[in-house]
Amino acid sequence: MSAWSELARQLGIRTEDASLVIGDQSVVSDGPELHVNSAVDGSRLASLQSATANDLHTAISAGVDAFQSWRVVPPPVRGELVRRFGEVLRASKRPLAELVTLEAGKIMAESLGEVQEMIDICDFATGLSRQLYGLTIATERPQHRMMEQWHPLGPVGIISAFNFPVAVWAWNAAIALVCGDTLVWKPSEKTPLTALACQSLLTQAAEGLDVPKGLSSVVIGGREIGSALAADERLPLISATGSVPMGRSVAQVVAGRLGRSLLELGGNNASIVTASADQELAIRGIVFGAVGTCGQRCTSLRRLFVHDSIADALLQRLRKAYESTSVGDPRQESTLVGPLIDEAAFDQMQSALADAASQGGQVSGGERITEGVPAGGVYVRPAIVEMPKQSDVMFTETFAPILYVVRYQNLENAIAMHNEVRQGLSSSIFTNDLREAEHFLSAAGSDCGIANVNMGPSGAEIGGAFGGEKETGGGRESGSDSWKTYMRRATNSINFGSSLPLAQGIQFG
Ligand code: NAD
Repeated sequence: MSAWSELARQLGIRTEDASLVIGDQSVVSDGPELHVNSAVDGSRLASLQSATANDLHTAISAGVDAFQSWRVVPPPVRGELVRRFGEVLRASKRPLAELVTLEAGKIMAESLGEVQEMIDICDFATGLSRQLYGLTIATERPQHRMMEQWHPLGPVGIISAFNFPVAVWAWNAAIALVCGDTLVWKPSEKTPLTALACQSLLTQAAEGLDVPKGLSSVVIGGREIGSALAADERLPLISATGSVPMGRSVAQVVAGRLGRSLLELGGNNASIVTASADQELAIRGIVFGAVGTCGQRCTSLRRLFVHDSIADALLQRLRKAYESTSVGDPRQESTLVGPLIDEAAFDQMQSALADAASQGGQVSGGERITEGVPAGGVYVRPAIVEMPKQSDVMFTETFAPILYVVRYQNLENAIAMHNEVRQGLSSSIFTNDLREAEHFLSAAGSDCGIANVNMGPSGAEIGGAFGGEKETGGGRESGSDSWKTYMRRATNSINFGSSLPLAQGIQFG
């Protein structure tokens, strides 16, 4: 039995090569063939047929039908499904994490963390199902009451990236489900198997509950399925996670039909290390941020601005820490850095390093590792590149473990360089000076959606709203009041008197 078949059995997946799953009904379609390779060693895990445009149409129709009944189920009852989903995830945490590692190449600790994030968002959404509140607002008219209600929005289209193959969908799914929406998911073509697993686990959670069949579906395919999803007028919200070019395309298509989009796009995240920083703590934060997930997190640390007075000492310690970072098989507990997703990612990394060198960068690391790692996987030594100044190559998000380091003299210049890029996802400052910390968090400081003090930019928890500004797309997912994006607001005015006063004192007739 193949590794995929064994995990599919443990996760209760009925059809290992499904192209489309609506509820618990699987279809093997006749769209273009999709080979699924393991990032661990490049081995073929499965060959699927992508779904067709017709399949997508069927899935959306099922989502539209299911919405008719799901939207009127009381929210706490909807929350019961999500609570159960959290329980199913707890029971399946290990095999699902193993599948994430097998397919996407994350180290096991991070895969387990990703599934934990799914569980956490289920807990959050279950509580939220009793807290979908609206305001009562003072009215100028006598014997009137004005209030807001939040109503379900409709079927939500979800497009997701390969690097968080399960958590990003769960952020959307758990919140959207308690909000009364239904789900149509197009996962990354690089990680369709984890998507089949998620759908199977959600279906298991729904067993015995009165849940409509088309509540959730998965449509396997590439960008053409994503484009068709974005274009479908029956989906009032498209939540899209991925690169900036993808988001730009999706945003234009959705705006063209006056739909709503929630965009979670690329980052180009930086940290500033000031002269007062606790360097030991900074090193740990920097290494996790820059090499974790092999630099393939949207929140990965890519640019480091270090005060000139401590730069030599910090760089020396950082290089030492990099040398002792174990790169290898993500299934082994001792490994800290697993593989890149594929050869194309390696080519992009090499091309960025060559550009950096031509722009005056001193490169250490970045080479391919072939000894002591699974053959067929793409393993690299994480790179540190000391740059004389912030230059062209640093403005692009290269999805690989490259850390550009630039020295600075004063904090204002460091913040200016920090904010100079077009992306605005996550950021951090390492400092023991309260004024520096607060300045970085102020309106004149970081321009990102996430700004941290004395930690790296990556590793957000679900209670806060997650997302970024500028080319990162402006979307917010997960905690805080992100749920409002998944609902529509109605302002209601009620007259409980017997006259009809008009607003603004207008006398009519
Ligand atoms: P990608 O943009 O190549 O693909 C993401 C998804 O979009 C895939 O499902 C793909 O099929 C689909 N897609 C691609 N082009 C499309 C189009 N024109 N129309 C509709 N769908 C389309 O990204 P990737 O390589 O899978 O993931 C890495 C990128 O995702 C990085 O830029 C990373 O920063 C970003 N990301 C952002 C967040 C966030 O929360 N901000 C989280 C994870 C990943």
